[in-house]
Amino acid sequence: MRIAVVGTGYVGLVTGACFSEMGNHVVCVDIDREKIEGLERGIIPIFEPGLEDMVIRNHKNGNLDFTTSIEDAISDAEVLFIAVGTPMSEDGSADLQYVLAVAEDIGRHISSDLIVVDKSTVPVGTADKVEETIYKGISERLAKAQSPEEKKALESISFSVVSNPEFLKEGAAISDFMKPDRVVIGASDENAMRKMKELYRPFTMNHERFIAMDVRSAELTKYAANAMLATKISFMNEMSQIARRVGADINSVRHGIGSDSRIGYSFIYPGCGYGGSCFPKDVNALNRIAIDAGYEPKIIPAVEAVNANQKLELVRMVTERFGENLVGRRFAIWGLSFKPQTDDMRESPAIVIIEELVRRGAEIRAYDPEAMKHASEFWLRGVEGVEYTKSKYDALDGSDAMLLITEWKEFRSPDFSEMKQRLKEPVIFDGRNQYAKESLERDGFEYHQIGVS
Ligand code: NAD
Repeated sequence: MRIAVVGTGYVGLVTGACFSEMGNHVVCVDIDREKIEGLERGIIPIFEPGLEDMVIRNHKNGNLDFTTSIEDAISDAEVLFIAVGTPMSEDGSADLQYVLAVAEDIGRHISSDLIVVDKSTVPVGTADKVEETIYKGISERLAKAQSPEEKKALESISFSVVSNPEFLKEGAAISDFMKPDRVVIGASDENAMRKMKELYRPFTMNHERFIAMDVRSAELTKYAANAMLATKISFMNEMSQIARRVGADINSVRHGIGSDSRIGYSFIYPGCGYGGSCFPKDVNALNRIAIDAGYEPKIIPAVEAVNANQKLELVRMVTERFGENLVGRRFAIWGLSFKPQTDDMRESPAIVIIEELVRRGAEIRAYDPEAMKHASEFWLRGVEGVEYTKSKYDALDGSDAMLLITEWKEFRSPDFSEMKQRLKEPVIFDGRNQYAKESLERDGFEYHQIGVS
């Protein structure tokens, strides 16, 4: 099939690469010229395991092209995916300006039949807005048509808008896309639904994973999924607050409840709060969707409130140990990205934690395997007293304690004797509860975990 993907970020680039890998011809579009020029030269703007090879291979064999011109991309496409960002507006709702700008572009340039697919996470009713915007563009062109032929050509264009929310996880995006748990499509047009099934068939060969529904249900499904996952995390973080106050160990509680198959082990790890480009903004957007629809949600705002509080938990633990005034203290930070296997810093707890420690006068020595460039050039730019180190051990030199924020695999089994030598004091604050308390304490470490009194 001939596909255009508009927006070449974490979702768009993975979508484009994976469809091209299956033999489709894909054109990826972005307004960011530097990004597109880089991609043409094989420079991948994000870190995502397996993505670089796939992009370079399919670009070389002609299945994957890049452009800044939506007009060029649309002229040959049967299916067009909208995969631009939907950041949070001031009132918590999803900002649709980028999605609707693409819809305007489509209305301006559509010249043959097209299936327009909303892959961005968008509020319920957005497909209708996209459809109206495209119609408006075509109508304006019709009004200005110079000849009966031009008018006829415009009148004969048919398009439909379907919803195909994306469930990939950063850090495992390629494998999630290639072997999805499910493919949700919301469409009212049978022909579009058939075509989407055909497009996704190679990804769902070993068993049926296609879930067809109406457009609004598909739009809401994405928010419901993210809100449910965020709720599990916040629930467990709330349990960790209770555990440490009543003298319990949240790690044991986690095992105790995870073994119940109705609950399961995933997404019940206590930690220093969720971040990323999706959970925070999607939970807020769902809250707004509910309010706008006349319902005052109870659970959803609590999920965000618990998370905001949890992002400060490590800071509280540090100040309980070292006092509120941290002038003259230095802390090593292991991990900056919001989760491992990605360089994405959006809403990462590391940002809040570092800012709070610096505000109290501390110096920071930070290390992350992939996110230091984004952190230093953008997210923590201008935050004074933050130094980035070449290795995780270098970050420890002269530090009063180490704070583990992101659970990268390279932090799982460090050389504890080297850590002890390099740290000023052998103190660890573990925001991901990944070490064995007894053996660390036997080795002379002072070890603080989330949710352990
Ligand atoms: P991103 O910010 O990484 O990428 C968006 C891209 O769109 C940018 O490169 C930007 O330059 C481009 N863009 C903006 N306006 C454009 C326009 N008019 N024409 C062409 N390109 C334009 O965003 P992302 O993380 O890939 O997320 C995209 C959407 O997918 C969001 O709605 C998000 O909620 C959703 N989503 C994200 C993830 C994830 O893990 N990142 C997972 C599932 C769903």
